[in-house]
Amino acid sequence: MKLSTQLLIDGQFVTGDGQAEPILNPATGELLASVPEASFEQVNRAVNGAQRAFAQWSRTTPAQRSTLLLRLADAIERHAEEFAALESLNCGKPYLAVLNDELPAVVDCFRFFAGAARCLQGPLAGEYIEGHTSMIRRDPIGVVGSIAPWNYPLMMAAWKMAPVLAAGNTVVLKPSEQTPLTALRLAELASELFPRGVINIVCGRGESVGAPLVEHPLVRMVSLTGDIATGQKILQSAARTMKRTHLELGGKAPVIIFDDADLEAVVAGIRTFGFYNAGQDCTAACRIYAQGKIYDKFVAAMTDAVASIKVGGPREEGVEMGPLISDRQRNRAASFVERAQSSGHVEVTAGGKIRPGNGFFFEPTLIAHARQEDEIVRREVFGPVVSVTRFSDAEQVVQWANDSDYGLASSVWTRDLGLASKVASHLQYGCTWINTHFMLTSEMPHGGMKMSGYGKDLSLYALEDYTVPRHIMLKL
Ligand code: NAD
Repeated sequence: MKLSTQLLIDGQFVTGDGQAEPILNPATGELLASVPEASFEQVNRAVNGAQRAFAQWSRTTPAQRSTLLLRLADAIERHAEEFAALESLNCGKPYLAVLNDELPAVVDCFRFFAGAARCLQGPLAGEYIEGHTSMIRRDPIGVVGSIAPWNYPLMMAAWKMAPVLAAGNTVVLKPSEQTPLTALRLAELASELFPRGVINIVCGRGESVGAPLVEHPLVRMVSLTGDIATGQKILQSAARTMKRTHLELGGKAPVIIFDDADLEAVVAGIRTFGFYNAGQDCTAACRIYAQGKIYDKFVAAMTDAVASIKVGGPREEGVEMGPLISDRQRNRAASFVERAQSSGHVEVTAGGKIRPGNGFFFEPTLIAHARQEDEIVRREVFGPVVSVTRFSDAEQVVQWANDSDYGLASSVWTRDLGLASKVASHLQYGCTWINTHFMLTSEMPHGGMKMSGYGKDLSLYALEDYTVPRHIMLKL
């Protein structure tokens, strides 16, 4: 398979002038490619190109932008197998999961925003002061610097490009230095459709490429999906030039299981939603609270279910879970488990170990009898590690669930929908699922509260985030 390694800067494919970044295959540890990162000067050229392109692109009609987004969606769909192969190679994800779950969502994201671009709404024009007509415009912001993580590289590129472009902005996207391959291939398809400079892709590390992008005075908005610490650095830097920011940071999703929940459905759900993408998901169902009467049954059934998850390389028959993205991430997960075990009161009932070999595999792991104050309940692992804590009543569990720095996703499992609705209304999370977890749809917003950040991905809310409402007043 041909791997694209060139950056897209102001309509030109160029080799990065900076340090070469090794791109590894997480399933084997082997080197896949080297992608030279963008130099400071190349970041500058990308931003300037995006700024020049903004003058024309911001004046296109929603229908014109929509047409190009639909064409890009079609092109991705035509190359779905190639994208799935690249993504699974670069991330170690099961190939079929990428092809069947991620690619349709990526295509749908571009299609949704193609339609949404034509449907923005606002208050009525009218004479709110006698003799003066007021009207509202929603205008694009300018050049958006978008910074993506490694867990869903192509999907994050879609989330970060589609609403930005639909709204009439231009973009400089920086994928994660570990996973640039699908974004670079996307650049090739997009460059055939979009005018020069509207889409720019620069690769490289946060410090050397992300930071100059955030600091650039012509970048008017920065969007990040990443770690809380990165979000904080970006906020500090953005303060200097008063940039708008859109931050999607980590999560530690509470999963509340009441005694009357459908045990089989809960276990099947958490087997999937706790370990999908090897748990490297900010909404992963990783912090379980099970009520007193169901607790022991749940731990027993969940232990068997976790032990049955088939771990392996992306193309292995029946594989359900791949490796973690890097040696570092795998060791980080292992150290969380070690520290949890050293508390003395928890029990690792499934997994808990690094899988020998060259790939970055960690066993799917269940940690029972965790307590609210434990690190494993409070900090994001971003790996295949799920903790279980016993609770007694609804009031206690809502308090524990909300007693977190994070506020991205949560779920409630019970047959009592009145109880579920009440608990959902008291949870401080961007999303609460009832009797499921993890389900996203392009029409509905995804985003956090508290230190999980702010700004919505997907839905009309994302389109609003990437536009600014303006008041035009005409004296009659
Ligand atoms: P990260 O913050 O280390 O990196 C994210 C991106 O930021 C990368 O492209 C990186 O190069 C860049 N970056 C790092 N330092 C920077 C700086 N100083 N200036 C500018 N850019 C910089 O995160 P990661 O390890 O790639 O991803 C994992 C994290 O992302 C987890 O904490 C996870 O919860 C979070 N995440 C959140 C969501 C969400 O929707 N809320 C989705 C996926 C991942």
